[in-house]
Amino acid sequence: MTTAARKSRYLAAMGIHHYVARGTVSDVGTVQADPGTADATVQTTAPVDELSALEVTVSGCRRCPLCETRRQTVFGVGNPAADCMLVGEAPGAEEDRQGKPFVGRAGQLLDAMLFAVGMNRDEVYIANVLKCRPPQNRDPQGEEVTRCEPYLHRQVDLVAPKLIVAMGRFAAQSLLRTTEAISRLRGREFTYRDTGLPLIVTYHPAYLLRNPADKSKAWDDLLLIKRKLAEAGAPAPPTASASQPPALSRRICRRPAG
Ligand code: SF4
Repeated sequence: MTTAARKSRYLAAMGIHHYVARGTVSDVGTVQADPGTADATVQTTAPVDELSALEVTVSGCRRCPLCETRRQTVFGVGNPAADCMLVGEAPGAEEDRQGKPFVGRAGQLLDAMLFAVGMNRDEVYIANVLKCRPPQNRDPQGEEVTRCEPYLHRQVDLVAPKLIVAMGRFAAQSLLRTTEAISRLRGREFTYRDTGLPLIVTYHPAYLLRNPADKSKAWDDLLLIKRKLAEAGAPAPPTASASQPPALSRRICRRPAG
């Protein structure tokens, strides 16, 4: 993707009107209105438009029983031209209420984690494997994932990040098609669906709130994420030292009292 195309997508996503000379936008694409319906297509002029069209499609999705219990779908937020895409499990109660992924205390911790390595929420794109909340926050079921994950795959195609970060056991196992424990998956480098796109696993912020002793491992993961983004050619965020972590990283890494 050209720099001009990335800029165009970013400005559009921010709601900033801009004009492009005819013939300079090359990112013309097609999105299926439903992943399983080949004949229902929407022609668009840029991936950001396709992302918006896909969000509308998802908002009316009834492909699995979770449509019966959701308040609303939770599609994704952030920069649609992000270098880094974060993928979580499924909406929880607060996400279901607000229609945004990673809100509440877990969202605040995610913001702190990103800030600690020089990034913020507006620079990344955040989505979940499932777009609807499972009742009582139970684990997603296989059929629900099968039905829903084409939406996530299309989001990845459209955002075209340089790095995917799977946050939490379920997202990691779904994206990597494995049953290995997250403790064995984090700290390593994988690729997303044989595309060559690097994928790193780390803990979900909600898990870290319940298990603060693992925050130091999450800090190591953040440094790995930062390094992989640099290797992928993403603009370098401000330096965060592994040996002398800044105040915010100490906040992330601090151990529980007692
Ligand atoms: S979880 Fe996914 S597949 Fe199921 S109804 Fe929601 S959007 Fe559709």
